Amino acid sequence: MWIIRGLKKGIITTPFPKKDDEYIPKSYYPDSLKNCTVFTDIHNFSCMGCGLCKSDMVRREDHVEVRKTLSIKKSVHIFVLDVGSCGACNREISLLGAPQYDFHRLGFFTTPTPKHADVLMVVGELTDDMLPILRESYELMPEPKAVLAVGACASGIYLKRIEKEIPVYARVSGCPPQPKYILKALLQLTGRWNE
Ligand code: SF4
Ligand code: SF4
Repeated sequence: MWIIRGLKKGIITTPFPKKDDEYIPKSYYPDSLKNCTVFTDIHNFSCMGCGLCKSDMVRREDHVEVRKTLSIKKSVHIFVLDVGSCGACNREISLLGAPQYDFHRLGFFTTPTPKHADVLMVVGELTDDMLPILRESYELMPEPKAVLAVGACASGIYLKRIEKEIPVYARVSGCPPQPKYILKALLQLTGRWNE
C-alpha cells in the first residue's frame, strides 16, 4: 500500500496530522465488549481485538486518553521501554521514525537513554524482572517528564501495576495500536495537537 502510494505521489510520508489520512487502516474491535470471554472487567483500553467473544468485528479508531499534558517547547526525546511485550507494539512504534510517519518532522526523536528523555513510552505486560528497571528509568529522566502507556497490555491490562510504580500521563489502546494513534497521543500529550 505504502509502495504504490509512494510511486503514485512520489512521497510516502503521511499528511497526518495536517490532514487525516484515509489510507491508514483502523483497528478491528468487537461491536460490544459485553461478551468478552477473556476479561471480567473489560474496557476499551484492555480489549485486544482477539475476536474470541465471537462478536462482529468492526473497524474503529484506537482510543487515546491524555490525563495531563507536558509543557515543552523544544524537541521531544522519547525513551521506549519494553517491560515484557510480544514485539508487535515495538514494530508499530518503530514505524514512527520510518518514512511512512517520519515523526522527526514534528519534533519527536527517540533516545537510547532515559537520562535524555522527556517521554517514557512503556509497552508490554510489566514483568517482575522489569519492575526495578521501570522505576529506575523514570527516576533517571530529567524534569519535566511524562509517561505514555502504549497498547492493550501497558494501557489496559497492566496499567494498575505500572501506576503503582510511576504516574501515567497518557495512554493508547490497541493490540497493537496503529502508529497514527501513538502519534496522536504524543501530539496531545505535548500540547501540539491542533484540531
Ligand atoms: S475481542 Fe477479545 S478481548 Fe476484546 S472483548 Fe472480545 S474476547 Fe474480549
Ligand atoms: S498490546 Fe498486544 S501487541 Fe502490544 S505488547 Fe501487548 S500483546 Fe503485544
